[in-house]
Amino acid sequence: MLRFAQTCEQIGATASRLAKIDALATYLRALDDDDLAAATRFFSGSPFAPTEERTLSVGSRTIVAAAHAVWQLPEDALASAYREAGDLGAALGTLVREPAGLSLFRETLTPASLKLALDEIADAKGKAANKRRQYACERIFAACASPLEATYAIKILTGDLRIGLREGLVLDAIAAAFSRDADDVRKAAMAAGDLGAVARAAKADTLGAVDVAYGTPIGVMLATPLAYGGPYPILADGGWIVEDKYDGIRIQAHTFGERVALYSRTHTDVGAAFPEIVAALREHAGDAIYDGELIAIRDGRVLPFRDLQTRLQRKDPAPELQAAIPVQFVAFDLLARGGRFVIDLPLVERRGLLAETLVPLDDRIAIAPWSALEAGSAPEIVHARFDESRARGHEGLVLKRTDAPYAPGRRGKWWLKLKRELATLDCVVVAVEWGHGKRAKWLSDYTFAVRDGDELLVIGKAYTGLTDAEIVANTDWFLARQLPEDEAANAYRTLALKRRELVVEPTLVVEIAFDVIQASALHKSGFSLRFPRIVRMRTDKRPSDADTLERVRTIYGEMLARESGG
Ligand code: AMP
Repeated sequence: MLRFAQTCEQIGATASRLAKIDALATYLRALDDDDLAAATRFFSGSPFAPTEERTLSVGSRTIVAAAHAVWQLPEDALASAYREAGDLGAALGTLVREPAGLSLFRETLTPASLKLALDEIADAKGKAANKRRQYACERIFAACASPLEATYAIKILTGDLRIGLREGLVLDAIAAAFSRDADDVRKAAMAAGDLGAVARAAKADTLGAVDVAYGTPIGVMLATPLAYGGPYPILADGGWIVEDKYDGIRIQAHTFGERVALYSRTHTDVGAAFPEIVAALREHAGDAIYDGELIAIRDGRVLPFRDLQTRLQRKDPAPELQAAIPVQFVAFDLLARGGRFVIDLPLVERRGLLAETLVPLDDRIAIAPWSALEAGSAPEIVHARFDESRARGHEGLVLKRTDAPYAPGRRGKWWLKLKRELATLDCVVVAVEWGHGKRAKWLSDYTFAVRDGDELLVIGKAYTGLTDAEIVANTDWFLARQLPEDEAANAYRTLALKRRELVVEPTLVVEIAFDVIQASALHKSGFSLRFPRIVRMRTDKRPSDADTLERVRTIYGEMLARESGG
């Protein structure tokens, strides 16, 4: 593992993609088959192939206990090393010494032997599981001959191997290591779903023989946001189709033999929660991989996302629940049919094949309707389609290039999503700050809060959204509403404000749009917003009409559920 660790260091130390590929390729080329498969998987982020259906569950407590047993660490050495390094691998690595009670036959740690120990950890079950995990960790540590080796072994154990490697880069390194065509490697990776197997096939020159691995999910293609408003020069050439943007759970459905798997975006098979969809897909003969969205819909009306969430949480749902919240799989792409991937075909051809392959027999399955966008279509036409989609209960539009292949795992310009914020928050401005640059003379930075009972809790700060004229006018308005010193002193404390902020009477309500809510210790509300921007001033609202912490929690919960399922 020493060479593995040194390669990681080399990769981490350079920003050059080519140098990273070169270091990795040189390392991979020298490995035997078992080490090659294991090391490639480590680099790709997970020690296991998806087909193994194993996960590594080893807590830091077990790792620390094993480290103490093997290296007899001084009492508080670890705590201070951890504070210093901020990462368990790096912290323990510095404390490595000759194992206490050194055995005569010291094992050498190789990627393959580490993989075997990780298998043991993943497979440990029952009462003594923790002990077995700890023993396996102890064996790993005892075999580490140097701090660097230990550091990286622990990083793999904790799933913390962050050396800036993307899957594409690992694939390119495999191609470079064995002088294979990068495209062949990429296709094989899609088919096998396991980079370890691909590396071995590249070495053996059998890349072409890797079949579609049904039952192994591949990365889904993603869309880039397109700001609502137009004009849309990117859409001018007439090479686009328009689809509704469904607000459900992204599903990659594999139908093969008698089996049907419904993979969510996190590659979990959620089929057990949606038996009616599994049954409906099983009625379609032939092996295929479909891409689509699962939505809750009753009598043609789309139901709110939280209904879908209720379904998602219930495995083996009772018939009453299935009737109360009916679901539908809306397919919008075909990735494989029989033994062949079709992702290299242009979208229009894949759409043609999809219509042939999946003929809906009832409401449980639908093919997403689409229409072509004519060359030179005015923004009004796009917006009319947008409104129609919203009227059908969907989120907006997805625009897709007709000639584009399916690019797994990529967010590119071939698919564009057009939506408006689902939620905005009405917040109260509690403090303001002088701007920077050309805004230095104005109070342009607003700190705002949500309500929690009688209290106001800060949730964020926004700099953008208002016009210069509004900011100028507000500057005087705020200056006239600065809190007197004693009240301000109190507010600094209760609202946890910075001294450079001017505390103002909490009277102005602003509507805030944002991309994501995060749990965060930064603000007193316990949340922060990503990319907050002021949509408008809500002079029609009083502070008591502002949104509450409760609503923030709800939006946050919905967002988490959507991320894990959709
Ligand atoms: P967002 O979640 O806003 O990043 O939007 C991307 C998601 O939109 C995708 O991951 C899909 O789950 C979903 N989506 C809904 N409708 C479509 C569609 N017609 N084509 C592609 N993706 C879609």
